Amino acid sequence: MMNTAALKSYIHAVENFPKPGIRFRDITPLLAAPEAFMAAITHMADATSAHDVQALVGIEARGFIFASAMAQHMQLPFFLVRKAGKLPRTTASIEYALEYGTDRLEIHLGDIQQPMKVALVDDVLATGGTANAAAGLLEQCGVEVACTSFLMELNGLGGRAVLNKYPVLPLLQYELEE
Ligand code: AMP
Repeated sequence: MMNTAALKSYIHAVENFPKPGIRFRDITPLLAAPEAFMAAITHMADATSAHDVQALVGIEARGFIFASAMAQHMQLPFFLVRKAGKLPRTTASIEYALEYGTDRLEIHLGDIQQPMKVALVDDVLATGGTANAAAGLLEQCGVEVACTSFLMELNGLGGRAVLNKYPVLPLLQYELEE
């Protein structure tokens, strides 16, 4: 199976997207390469399974791609944390601060059977604001966040410190200048 170092060549850095000063990490070349995508899912699932979780929770939108594939690989349930107003049935929600203003995340209450231990999954850990809000939402619903799994962690943006209550499991690490 492809090793983690080789996976980096499938993630492209795009300067000044979506705003000046942001180096966007584009995962679409990885998704387009079945061997690379499979290796990423297998490595992420292996690291996560050590935490004895009963379900995978993906954060909209790119977290869905990784959490759903990991859930199939591990044969576990997959739950969605979505932006406000997208889920049709009864939800629990949490508000969190953005750079300017606030946003809201929601989860379907009916799908969760407590008590449960889950892994929270997203593609990129940057400042940690989104993952921390999603973890807070799960805890509010009586769900234990056993670990947080990411395809990559962007070092130097403080995400790991924000998530200090949880094990943080990134498959890849990036320095800001990398
Ligand atoms: P944060 O809340 O700052 O940790 O940002 C996390 C969310 O923003 C994740 O869902 C990522 O998909 C996305 N994100 C943040 N920074 C980047 C980046 N440089 N490249 C791609 N996606 C990013």
